[in-house]
Amino acid sequence: MVTSGGESGRQCGSCSMCCKVFLIAEIAKPAGQWCPHCTPGRGCRIWGDHPAQCRAFRCMWLSEAWLGPEWYPQTAKMVLTQNPQSWLLVEVDSGSPKAWMREPYLTHLRRFAAAGLPLRRPVVVFSAGEAILVLPDRHEVVMKAKSGEPLDPAAFLSRLP
Ligand code: SF4
Ligand code: SF4
Repeated sequence: MVTSGGESGRQCGSCSMCCKVFLIAEIAKPAGQWCPHCTPGRGCRIWGDHPAQCRAFRCMWLSEAWLGPEWYPQTAKMVLTQNPQSWLLVEVDSGSPKAWMREPYLTHLRRFAAAGLPLRRPVVVFSAGEAILVLPDRHEVVMKAKSGEPLDPAAFLSRLP
């Protein structure tokens, strides 16, 4: 959703993955479907008039240089973000729902989970209508959407105590 580099100096390039995975309420774009204003690989056709959510968005791959090139969202088929409590949220492309279970990703996610555990910063994957808590040695489905619907991470996070 941005084309300029983040703090890491990285650029979106041909990636448009965030224009697919996220719900954009302002334009009633559902999660898991390409935005009607997106030309994948080329970007936003309403750039300049695009929603505030899009203007503000910056994925972790852009801002965090410690994430390796394998985490480029177009390659990984996943978009990483953090919520205000520093939980690591992993949105998986609906076209590759098992992407997070491939290597090296699953090993990386388990390492992130081990590092976050003492700090109470869990790793949660959103894929195929499920919220999945990744732990250092296993994973657990902690919420399921109604059949056939993508799970809105905001809905999941709002139900936490
Ligand atoms: S997912 Fe990240 S790298 Fe890809 S277009 Fe969005 S902000 Fe840019
Ligand atoms: S409006 Fe533009 S930046 Fe926002 S999701 Fe659609 S294509 Fe992407």
